[in-house]
Amino acid sequence: MTTTTPPPGPAGPSPPGAAGSPPTLIGSLSPSRAADFVTCPLRYRFRVVDRLPEPPSPAASRGTVVHTVLERLFDLPPAGRTLAAARTLVEPAYEQLCTREPAVAGLFDGAEALAAWLESARDLLEGYFALEDPTRLAPAARELYVEHVLDSGLRLRGYVDRLDSAATAQGVALRVVDYKTGRSPGPAFEASAMFQMRFYALLLWRVRGVIPRELRLYYLGDRTWLRVSPDEADLRATERRITALWAAIERAHRTGDWRATPGRLCSWCDHQSRCPAFGGTPPPLPSPRPAAGLDDQAPAVCEADG
Ligand code: SF4
Repeated sequence: MTTTTPPPGPAGPSPPGAAGSPPTLIGSLSPSRAADFVTCPLRYRFRVVDRLPEPPSPAASRGTVVHTVLERLFDLPPAGRTLAAARTLVEPAYEQLCTREPAVAGLFDGAEALAAWLESARDLLEGYFALEDPTRLAPAARELYVEHVLDSGLRLRGYVDRLDSAATAQGVALRVVDYKTGRSPGPAFEASAMFQMRFYALLLWRVRGVIPRELRLYYLGDRTWLRVSPDEADLRATERRITALWAAIERAHRTGDWRATPGRLCSWCDHQSRCPAFGGTPPPLPSPRPAAGLDDQAPAVCEADG
């Protein structure tokens, strides 16, 4: 895992804190948790404020395994990055996950169910190979941790699945790649899917001083992808949106109004039994309430998005 921290005096526009001392940290936000709040503030509360545990699921665990395989695939020499090689990496990735999270091993009712699940992970990898040829790529980084503190004191952070970099006549060209193991969201939800990618692009711009030339989102479930080429206006708008989002999160902290917003993600939400939209009652808020600034320091849920 590679960590990118801001180099001294980045060449990018509007470097934070350039004129004086660093801003006081007011909070921390990742694209995944930002998406949680946008989708359903109550779900954000359950995950980040209450820090309620979420048991592993076959779909989320498969997402973790596939992400691990796609990271390790690039450890192999280019000619060795074949589908057959990727398939052989699935079982070791599963075993490693079970060592880290023993509850995953209990998800499967017998050897046959486990074998079918492992095969479904291999099917997703086949979907990846239908979208691009890894033998032709030389990623600059995988599972790249990036963080940056805005002038407001809000720390943005996240893991980029893959960063490709190429030297061109116009300078360094960066491409941000993210893998989703689900299906593509459909036209109505593409903008929110690409918000996560713009969030990463903003981070990289601020840290490296280069606007990524392309943001690419692969959906292995239905073997399709989205792409966008952001510009400066895009990323400035993204920063304004993140700032507004954080103001809404702070407001929810102050008022205790974490509103349930039922939608298509409810089917995958672990918290239906305590959600008013499903007849449940949320537990009392933790006391003393965690400060808003501590929300997203160490999320209770995995960042890898299945
Ligand atoms: S069940 Fe739906 S409405 Fe309730 S917390 Fe989960 S996502 Fe929100």
